[in-house]
Amino acid sequence: MENVRTSGPLPVPEPVGAASVRGIVSHRGEGFRRLLGDVTDGLRPFFGTTGAVLPFTCSGTGGMEAAVVNCVAPGERVLALCAGYFGERFAAVARAHGAEVTEHRVPWGRALDPAEVRGVLRAAGPFRAVLVTHNETSTGVLNPLREVCEAVREESDALILVDGVSSVGAIPVEMDAWGADVVVTVTQKALLAQPGISPVAAGERALAAARGRGGPRYYFDFPRMADAVTEGTTTYTPAVSVLQGLDAAVRLLREEGPENVFRRHRHAARHLRRRLTGLGLSPLVAPEDASPTVTAVRLPAGVPADAVRGRLEREHGVLVAGGRGPWKADTVRIGHMGVFREDQLDAAAEALAETVGHLAAAPAAR
Ligand code: PLP
Repeated sequence: MENVRTSGPLPVPEPVGAASVRGIVSHRGEGFRRLLGDVTDGLRPFFGTTGAVLPFTCSGTGGMEAAVVNCVAPGERVLALCAGYFGERFAAVARAHGAEVTEHRVPWGRALDPAEVRGVLRAAGPFRAVLVTHNETSTGVLNPLREVCEAVREESDALILVDGVSSVGAIPVEMDAWGADVVVTVTQKALLAQPGISPVAAGERALAAARGRGGPRYYFDFPRMADAVTEGTTTYTPAVSVLQGLDAAVRLLREEGPENVFRRHRHAARHLRRRLTGLGLSPLVAPEDASPTVTAVRLPAGVPADAVRGRLEREHGVLVAGGRGPWKADTVRIGHMGVFREDQLDAAAEALAETVGHLAAAPAAR
């Protein structure tokens, strides 16, 4: 059995797999109404909202696109807060839809600084929307979402659109209390299910923006999807089997209890970091910015990431994620989201130390 330490998709727990193959219910029937109600009710505490949860059948990038096209019209100004690859993707999505995008970039490996965000809003605002990645999976950085939202709220009336793809279900998100307007996530990461659905939480201000105008859209329309969900269905044919899996997954998470789930992830990140450091490896991100769900490790000079990942899989049955963008050649990322055991993290850290040692000593063996 492989030790899958990527940042998703992840192997699903047995009850999730079983629920997804139970047999498809019609999305216009009573069974589906119950399923959808259970899933959206079950997800709300993980978004920290009492508002609409809209299950779009698409991946996380689709959910990000949905957020943009409902809240931003072409030509409107958007501030994209970029602390890595996925922040830059959010900016690219907005640009693709004709928004006038100002990017505020911090160096890879660093978290956003709310004071700097405040400064940008004062110097370069007003903006229609601010795009922010909660947990930057490409670097293993957790951005201070609550403080960023606070800064945006105090300085402007911009809509706050959050990429919570690798945070929701593992890291506390309090969308309503923090004043975020949209939070996007996916089924295939901390929510423990198969890929296929992007649950998007949309607050009243986002729905009002979409009703008022927003950008051109059809499939991703928030108000129509919100009306459909209220009636116990979705606008179009959903990935029913994924929703069935998600229902079982959310039950598992709620049985464990959100606070316990969040604590388990925080603890795992600290534990892994200690193990890596003890083995002479270098977690890239400062402890105060480190993500509870993914840890990036910088490899020693001359030890290429591709060779490390190949040997880890071949010799140790450990799958880790590669680096992204500028970190591709010399970084690997170890995922610790969803369901995992601490001994799997230990095994991954030890296998990585062995692999790095082996490749550093015998470059020809690559
Ligand atoms: N945003 C973040 C933070 C991610 O980690 C990912 C995927 O890893 C995405 C967006 C894109 O999600 P998807 O591949 O489901 O489109």
